[in-house]
Amino acid sequence: MIFGSDPDAPSFGTLRKLHGMLPSLAKDLASGKMKGKGGKLAKTRPRKMCRVCCKTFDLAACPDDTPLTPSLCDECEPVLKDGYVAIVSGDKFAFIKHESLTDLGGTVQHVSIPVFEQFQAKFEAAVKERQKDEKGEA
Ligand SMILES: [Zn+2]
Repeated sequence: MIFGSDPDAPSFGTLRKLHGMLPSLAKDLASGKMKGKGGKLAKTRPRKMCRVCCKTFDLAACPDDTPLTPSLCDECEPVLKDGYVAIVSGDKFAFIKHESLTDLGGTVQHVSIPVFEQFQAKFEAAVKERQKDEKGEA
């Protein structure tokens, strides 16, 4: 999702839940628990992990000890190219575009959890403010 662009965007909780499902899905795929029709697929592992959303991709049949290369997935890369800053803290991430952050456009910024929570709080306050304006409440 892109912060600041869509007041109807899913909540952080929803995103975190969805995001939390990704690693186990990737693990199941890698361990062969999930199989396509007919089973017995070649064992594949992801070779790349997105630096922003931690999504693993670029699945290929390769040895178990193949390291994950930090990369950008096909969802995050275009957003960064569009001039957004990716704010990443642990398993949380957000895209922000703001005039005060123009210098950082297109970069990935790792921040501590308290800093991220400040961003989150400011964003949520801004969304509430905007929704209030749209409803015409003073
Ligand atoms: Zn990504």
